[in-house]
Amino acid sequence: MYDIIIIGSGPAGLSAAVYASRARLKSIVVEKDYAGTGQIAVSECVDNYLGLPEISGYDLGEKFREHAEKFGAEFYDGEAVSISRSDGFYTVSFKNGKTLDGKTIIYAAGTSYRRLDIPGGKLQGVSYCAVCDGMFYKNKTVAVIGGGDTALEDALYMSRIANKVYLIHRRDEFKANKALQEKVKDTPLIELVLNSEVSEIIGEKRVETIKILQSGREKELTINGVFVAIGSIPNTTLLNGICSLDKSGYIIANEDGITSAEGIFAAGDVRTKKLKQVVTAVSDGTNCVKSVEEYLAY
Ligand code: NAP
Repeated sequence: MYDIIIIGSGPAGLSAAVYASRARLKSIVVEKDYAGTGQIAVSECVDNYLGLPEISGYDLGEKFREHAEKFGAEFYDGEAVSISRSDGFYTVSFKNGKTLDGKTIIYAAGTSYRRLDIPGGKLQGVSYCAVCDGMFYKNKTVAVIGGGDTALEDALYMSRIANKVYLIHRRDEFKANKALQEKVKDTPLIELVLNSEVSEIIGEKRVETIKILQSGREKELTINGVFVAIGSIPNTTLLNGICSLDKSGYIIANEDGITSAEGIFAAGDVRTKKLKQVVTAVSDGTNCVKSVEEYLAY
């Protein structure tokens, strides 16, 4: 029986693992992908984590993991498929039939890419990860869809590989932070395509053109690849009917991570919060362990 089953091995889960081991709580980190570190792994450069002014997301994730391992974190690789409760403890069941029992759960399963559900959205050349697939577009023309931090980071990343980047956004204002907006505006290779909804991606097998509706007018752009960066959806299906979720599926919880389900705590991007950043995910992991300590003490 574990004191804590930590679901998710991103910054929130790994931070919880470090604090749990310092608090001498018997814990295990459950991860779907072997040696994962969450979505941070595909961020080209993190420049806002205090003390590390410039580091790749991959390296930062590795540092987090090494830190957790150094403190003796135990990991279990498997896909959790259900959570149930009896006699005051939780059982997490896995796809392979295995189960783990814990007095509490820190749920830090993060988010997944929001998919672009339009005709042609599954053609070859439609990608959700510029850092993973960007290298295939050397000196080519690509489109990036979205207006948040991820889209602008992807557009900047692709501007160093491709010879033309269309940044397509449905409004005329970006949601991304001002520093990124300034960098994009200072990059001549990036052409802004604003007030534009993508209605179709066209191609035989691979992407060839993209159809957009710009201020009511239809337009086609010839491109070789599309990077979709239109936000994320929380990985909270497992908690349906267990915890209170908001209308977008995020777990309703404050900084202390306390949820509507006794003994389940939420950390990182899966919980309702204003600022989804590595630093806030890390802080959530630590706060949740404090909440677990208080919960187990009573
Ligand atoms: P996001 O902030 O939710 O932005 C999603 C963008 O996609 C928005 O501009 C949105 O448009 C647009 N969008 C949503 N649905 C769409 C659709 N169906 N069709 C077309 N456009 C659509 O997502 P994100 O950029 O992935 O960022 C997620 C979180 O991670 C944020 O909190 C962000 O600050 C954080 N993050 C931080 C960093 C960093 O600090 N370096 C890097 C990456 C991400 P509207 O603007 O019109 O709503």
